[in-house]
Amino acid sequence: MDPTMLVDNPEWLLIVLAPVFIICMLAEYGLGQRNHRLPANSRYSLPEVVCNFTLAGMHQLADLLTGLLIVKFYLWLFGWRLFDIEISVASFIALMVLQDFCYYWFHRASHRVRWMWAAHVAHHSSENMNFSTAFRQSLMYPLAGMWLFWVPLVIIGFEPKWVVFVVLLNLGLQFFVHTQWIDKLGPIEKVFNTPSHHRVHHGTNPQYIDKNYAGVLIVWDKLFGTYEPEVETVRYGVTKPVNSFNPITVTFHEWRELWADAFHQPMTIKQRLKVLLSPPRD
Ligand SMILES: [Zn+2]
Ligand SMILES: [Zn+2]
Repeated sequence: MDPTMLVDNPEWLLIVLAPVFIICMLAEYGLGQRNHRLPANSRYSLPEVVCNFTLAGMHQLADLLTGLLIVKFYLWLFGWRLFDIEISVASFIALMVLQDFCYYWFHRASHRVRWMWAAHVAHHSSENMNFSTAFRQSLMYPLAGMWLFWVPLVIIGFEPKWVVFVVLLNLGLQFFVHTQWIDKLGPIEKVFNTPSHHRVHHGTNPQYIDKNYAGVLIVWDKLFGTYEPEVETVRYGVTKPVNSFNPITVTFHEWRELWADAFHQPMTIKQRLKVLLSPPRD
């Protein structure tokens, strides 16, 4: 396949990677789960796998529908770019690193701003961890404002199609950190986000909450004080369990609660904004 086709049509990237994702899940299920090499909370249960896949489909569809609008906005902003950046190996690596830096702040905001947590909670509400957990995404990310975090890359002068491609590549690479099959990876742990680091991110153990926001590089967490190594066995999920395999409930339950808290009682606009923008409740 011509790789430039994927840059011109980045929405195909995750579809092209789908066979790799499926092989990994079949291997984790066949070699890990069926040979009892994995803990009970790594189990593939049909209702949850169906829920995870449906969430991925809903997310892809929402991205396709809103992507056109977002790319139009990026192209308009691109007219005000600071530099003209040709894509070469060096500038592509720079774009990957800068996008990963923006991803760190997007992800940190998704945990610390309730408006954004309402979308991101779908990714965290499973009490299991296996490759299929990576498919738990929310169709509400465009409304939550994910696209705002990549605006600096367009303003700097990276072409919007390359920005979108790298955002989706980062998301695709994160599939591989959602597993209990892989233990620690030696020196790789020092620089890159790994399954061990990301297991911590999904933990409800008090010391693991709001830690390891990394996309590809763990160095951002080490730099900005949110790094925590995996020591104690991780308990997965969220502090307020959703207890549902219904993708609609998983997607909207926190939005419903947020709406009730912000709009069902008399408050000033400032108080409402405070509810929407404060950290999530325990
Ligand atoms: Zn998260
Ligand atoms: Zn995750």
